[in-house]
Amino acid sequence: MSWAPLRLWLRSAAPPLYPVGPHRLAAPVCGVCRGPVRSGFARCYQCERQDQLGRGLLADAVVPISYALKGTAFADDLWRYKSMVAPAASARASVLALLLAFLADHGACVWRQAAMPPPSRLAVVPSGCGRPGPHPLLQLVSPCLRLPGCALALRPGRQGRDLDPDRFQAAGVAAGASVLLIDDTWVSGASAQSAAVALKRAGARHVAVVVVGRHVNPDDPRAGPLVAALAPALYDPSSCAVHPVSRRPSGPSISTNGI
Ligand SMILES: [Zn+2]
Ligand SMILES: [Zn+2]
Repeated sequence: MSWAPLRLWLRSAAPPLYPVGPHRLAAPVCGVCRGPVRSGFARCYQCERQDQLGRGLLADAVVPISYALKGTAFADDLWRYKSMVAPAASARASVLALLLAFLADHGACVWRQAAMPPPSRLAVVPSGCGRPGPHPLLQLVSPCLRLPGCALALRPGRQGRDLDPDRFQAAGVAAGASVLLIDDTWVSGASAQSAAVALKRAGARHVAVVVVGRHVNPDDPRAGPLVAALAPALYDPSSCAVHPVSRRPSGPSISTNGI
């Protein structure tokens, strides 16, 4: 197995990213979701509220790979890859390559941040609209990872903007499981944290969320300092949101099916 071609492809053919990491940014960010936060506050309003609503059952770590700055090619890919009408092959390839490379290069950082062993289960945050069938991200990723899946089903009538412990029904969660929960886009985090609560209620001991793109709207005045601090960059295997000092990547930190 060689990861070099995947990283090379990411650096040559995929859209530029907006790397996450407070060490890189001259702007305050939320300690949970890395979104914009008022100066002097540790967490954003949404993460603070979710902590009140789901205390003790929230994700043990939330690790975004990149900011998804509205209007950029990367943010567009996060919608185009799952278009119900005509999913874009290039967007699907970019999202899959990024997720696999990140899990190989930084999975160990994520597990460490969540204080958990390598994951024993995989789950994907369902889309808010309750689209039928398997989630496009699960279809993309699950054939590549040697991880049994947990199912998360949206309960009828439970779409909302706040964390809702009853939004999802989780199944296939082994007692004491460590779950890798993947989300394509984090806006408020209500869906991902509701999914984490459902997984923990169903028996998961640990839940680590890997977010492909942390949504940022440049038109949101609260995001001004963060947007000003962001700069496009190519995928960097030596740096992620949770290890502040650049280091050389070691071997793959997650088992894959012959990537
Ligand atoms: Zn937050
Ligand atoms: Zn890392």
